[in-house]
Amino acid sequence: MPDVPKPPAGAAIYFDGKSSQRRAVTLHLGDRLEIRDGETMLAAWAYADIRRADGPSGMLRLSSLSAPPLARLEIRDAAFAADMVARCASLDENTPGRRGVVAIVGWSLAATISIVAVVLFGVPLAADRLAPLVPDAFERRLGEVADSQVRTLFDAKVCGNAAGEKAFVKLTTAIREAAGMDTTVQSSVLSSAVPNAFALPGGRVYMFNGLLAKAENADEIAGVLAHELGHHKNRDNMRGLIRDGGTSFLVGLLFGDITGSSALIFASRSLVTSSHSREAEQDADGFSIDIMHKLGRPTKPMGELLVRVTGKEGKGLSIISSHPLSEDRLARMTRENRPATKPPLLTPEEWRSLKSICDSGGKI
Ligand SMILES: [Zn+2]
Repeated sequence: MPDVPKPPAGAAIYFDGKSSQRRAVTLHLGDRLEIRDGETMLAAWAYADIRRADGPSGMLRLSSLSAPPLARLEIRDAAFAADMVARCASLDENTPGRRGVVAIVGWSLAATISIVAVVLFGVPLAADRLAPLVPDAFERRLGEVADSQVRTLFDAKVCGNAAGEKAFVKLTTAIREAAGMDTTVQSSVLSSAVPNAFALPGGRVYMFNGLLAKAENADEIAGVLAHELGHHKNRDNMRGLIRDGGTSFLVGLLFGDITGSSALIFASRSLVTSSHSREAEQDADGFSIDIMHKLGRPTKPMGELLVRVTGKEGKGLSIISSHPLSEDRLARMTRENRPATKPPLLTPEEWRSLKSICDSGGKI
């Protein structure tokens, strides 16, 4: 009887963090951890960037600071897992969640004191001061969990047929680079028919297909995406969470209990339904205007999209906060408008592909 072949030492399951595809891969321990599918190298993770992610017992689940936040490796082979643990010196650093108590209480004495002050003296006072102190790793983790909540809440899928995805990546990359932001910022189109867009903590920007459907050109969508990046840059989402979340969120934050807690459920609901202050909206519009100037593209189209979607007053949606009137925003974007000095961000064909990103027909 032939020996049952042992699985190769580096067998693992890989999720690239961009699609929900589950891939059987082999891991090669080079200068970096190489993730391969046969001969194809899918990714390479520096050992110093690798972190432990929550996983069931009997499995080592890993993420990487330099990979998309949802990218995961799952290793079941105990010997290989032990080898990985030995190589990844920072495996358990900055990991909120189960091991979060020390990490989060430790991040800043000032922040801890602020939380206590918030609990004792009321939230709005400290939200502005506290938001910038929340560590990036925590914010990313929160965004990650909120991401799945959002999809459930809207019963939405991430759209991405090949041609549409290519156009969307081209558009979002141009905006992100003009904004001077790195690839931790991730944007997706969700299949919801609601005309909306919003950002979650951790740099996740969502454009709903319903808004895309109402848009007439790429400048309109670019302006909205840039506006959401403005909220991200100003950490308005964290600020809103701290302000609206009250004590349960803060206590959850303090004790690192963010998985499955009431704080988190609150957080996701609040992120989707809350509106920013008038100032935050104006700042995000200003940020968007700057980005469009840098891209050599007009600012007026975004204002036109908002008015088209909401009418002149514009209420109820997070991209269209109840405070500034869509008409006022259009007026500002018309004032700041400059004639295009650079070519369109997408070709007519790419724009058509983006408009139909949620049609599965385009999938190769
Ligand atoms: Zn906004």
